[in-house]
Amino acid sequence: MSDKPFPLTLRDLEGLTAQYPTPFYLYDERGIREHARRFTRAFASRFPLFREYFAVKACPNPFILKILAAEGFGADCSSLPEIILAEKAGITGERIMFTSNETPEREYVYANLKDATINLDDITHIDYLEKAIGGLPELICFRYNPGPLKEGNALIGKPEEAKYGLTRPQILEAYADAAKRGSKRFGLHTMVASNELNPDYFVETAVLLFELAAEIKQKTGCAVEFVNMGGGIGIPYKPGQKAVDYDYVARGIREAYDRIMVPAGLDPVAIYFECGRPVTGPYGWLVTRAIHEKHIYREYVGLDASMADLMRPGMYGAYHHVSVVGKENAPHDRVYDVVGSLCENCDKFAVQRQLPAIEKGDFVVIHDAGAHGRAMGFNYNAKLRAGELLLREDGKIVEIRRRETEDDYFATLDFKKLGGFTV
Ligand SMILES: *Cc1c(COP(=O)(O)O)cnc(C)c1O
Repeated sequence: MSDKPFPLTLRDLEGLTAQYPTPFYLYDERGIREHARRFTRAFASRFPLFREYFAVKACPNPFILKILAAEGFGADCSSLPEIILAEKAGITGERIMFTSNETPEREYVYANLKDATINLDDITHIDYLEKAIGGLPELICFRYNPGPLKEGNALIGKPEEAKYGLTRPQILEAYADAAKRGSKRFGLHTMVASNELNPDYFVETAVLLFELAAEIKQKTGCAVEFVNMGGGIGIPYKPGQKAVDYDYVARGIREAYDRIMVPAGLDPVAIYFECGRPVTGPYGWLVTRAIHEKHIYREYVGLDASMADLMRPGMYGAYHHVSVVGKENAPHDRVYDVVGSLCENCDKFAVQRQLPAIEKGDFVVIHDAGAHGRAMGFNYNAKLRAGELLLREDGKIVEIRRRETEDDYFATLDFKKLGGFTV
């Protein structure tokens, strides 16, 4: 019935939860490493300078980052604390891509101090950065927004309505300007889709960027040394959907490169991605327990987790596969709304979902939660977020982030001052 894997059995979970009560996130090191190698192989075999910069926001845990660093990945960061996380995991210098937007001055200062590759989101940021750090860095990248030239997708919207990046006329001006102000090495970036499963989309994006790189060289004399395709590679959240075929995408991008970049004198140029979702998404699960059942106008199963642990279903109406451990092959002859405890009616992990009969105490697993899962958690309703466990390749399970406590929630409050606060 369930064609989505989960690495632990009911017995494993009964033992594990004696030490680590639900809810918690579980990640699978083997799955993460095998995927990382498959991804790298497809592109690095065709582009020797290929590198994936893992989008830290997708799973900002330094233990996971350390595994990815060992697989040769860099880190794509968009805030100062994300840069620190990457550094803690041993990812430094140009292996950090700082793709931010509406960036505060002190974050540019820090990124520059650490020799991260700075990717500017707007033409006015040239001035802003120059003032912040006292000159432009040697290596600079710009984020392109193709506007109506490229269709976006549902999650990120139309490029012309997206807040990111520079327009085509601006981007030509930006390289010329940056060169005049002292930058000597250049990169080009775009990201126009999110959770996209159509492989042709990425080949078309590469064509767009390669043609632009050729035009930039011709019109400004600036030769980019890398083209950063951004993130946006989707994962098959729904059973029956097909994962993106990396060999197909890499082959298509290589053909476009030979056709456009090589004749333009732009070879060798590195191809970069900054994917998050496919890197950890399918290898992470939110493990919960059913603690209530409720029979009103609909049948409800109440979990010990909530939207504060995983907001994608509530926020985007996103589908996450749900399975009940030990009942994978039981008839799925019930229809439930599987819900959390937030005082918001959108706090539903699944709506009108066909599932096996669920009893209180059952382990209910939310699949494909390894990216934009724990990371998007929040504390509304004073909900305390779940911790994170890692299944190592040797079968051992280690805690890589403890669950939050009341003290964490109160950490920014000073109750001592409350006594002297007269009303
Ligand atoms: C979110 C984001 C990514 C990662 O996207 P995924 O969909 O997780 O692969 C990469 N780059 C930028 C600039 C982003 O905002």
